[in-house]
Amino acid sequence: MSHLTTHLPVEPEFEQAYRELASTLENSTLFDKHPEHRRALEVVTVPERTIQFRVTWENDKGGLEVNRGYRVQFNSSLGPYKGGLRFHPTVNMSILKFLGFEQIFKNALTGLNMGGGKGGADFDPKGKSDNEIRKFCSAFMMELSKHIGADIDVPAGDIGVSGREIGFLFGAYKRQRHLWEGVLTGKGVSWGGSLIRPEATGYGLVYYVQHMIQYATDNQETFKGKRVAISGSGNVAQYAALKVIEFGGTVISLSDSKGSLIVRDEADSITPEEIYLIQQHKVERKYLSELASTDAFRERCSYVPEARPWEHLDKVDVALPCATQNEVSGPEALALIEAGARYIAEGSNMGCTLAAIEHFEASRQNHEKGKSIWYGPGKAANCGGVAVSGLEMAQNSQRLTWTAEEVDNKLKHIMHTCFLTGVETAKSYTVNAEGSLPSLVAGSNIAGFMKVAAAMRDQGDWW
Ligand code: GLU
Repeated sequence: MSHLTTHLPVEPEFEQAYRELASTLENSTLFDKHPEHRRALEVVTVPERTIQFRVTWENDKGGLEVNRGYRVQFNSSLGPYKGGLRFHPTVNMSILKFLGFEQIFKNALTGLNMGGGKGGADFDPKGKSDNEIRKFCSAFMMELSKHIGADIDVPAGDIGVSGREIGFLFGAYKRQRHLWEGVLTGKGVSWGGSLIRPEATGYGLVYYVQHMIQYATDNQETFKGKRVAISGSGNVAQYAALKVIEFGGTVISLSDSKGSLIVRDEADSITPEEIYLIQQHKVERKYLSELASTDAFRERCSYVPEARPWEHLDKVDVALPCATQNEVSGPEALALIEAGARYIAEGSNMGCTLAAIEHFEASRQNHEKGKSIWYGPGKAANCGGVAVSGLEMAQNSQRLTWTAEEVDNKLKHIMHTCFLTGVETAKSYTVNAEGSLPSLVAGSNIAGFMKVAAAMRDQGDWW
């Protein structure tokens, strides 16, 4: 860590993401086999470029508002910078550097030609009118448009940025640059967007976990009959929940920043109709607590205010954190293990703290195959979103639109390959106790890192 911390401001989230990657590389045989890769790690840790700018805009009362805008162009060895924009009051350089760093290796794992980047603003969309959101997006793009382009840097959505914001941002770019090009992904389907892009992160996560379950049980089990705890209730959580239900699992929780909705009866599940209601509610930027008190939910679900679901579950098989970073702490990981969770996979970026990952990884090694706890890290398990963004870029380049089935099949293939890459790389580069499952966090980190390091070396970024 020394080269990271001596001359830099404190960046806790970025240091955590770095530590997670570096520790898995250190604990593998990678540096024994290729000691020169330590230099690659030192170089890849420094963003190619960071941009920070002022955004001023006018609220509905005619008052002046000012926010901080950012874009971290972290690594372009595999393709144009690619990664979402986050609008949330907590956004700062440490958070965007952690997200951009994760994105480099995640994008590498998709097998598509995308570099890594991330951006956003400390703007809070909650409580803002559509008019204010449009004005903010336009002001934000006024500066961002100078730094992006279809072959330079292609942003997309993240927390606080979805279809509506992408539309406003795209329109602003087009007007400011006088250029219609695939500069953003997550666009509307009639103006260059890809089918399945909104669903892709959640669907991809469930496809990935289905492979985990099948591998761990020698194809004896699937999602069928499994109790699945999900946190969050945004885009990722919604489509993960719908796919779990389609695959025969039951969804026992959803949450937002103010509390958790938990199904009371053990055999019961949140239904697709309820998820559509939540979807509508989110568009109106409302909280789950309002829905929890309506007839549709009150009878079957309890609402736990100011809490994440993990410590409030009696029996759970699969846990899918789909809200935000550090949403599973060490004690919450232990509570999940206690409640019977066997598979934990992140729909969110860095959903688990380092302490939580340590608990999951220790339980992976302590058990026989078939009884282990298995952790799927976000950069592998949630890569379906950016993968379909890559497919949207491919369609834009061809000026074609593929069918939903074509895109979904490509997504399934990418998630399967990403899973197998993690498994095979872990087997080659880590020492595993006899019969225990391979570490997906180590395998995915090593595979993503090696691919990027090799491209950087070819391009003269290190030697
Ligand atoms: N924000 C998403 C992620 O964390 C998607 C990024 C993209 O599609 O560019 O991967």
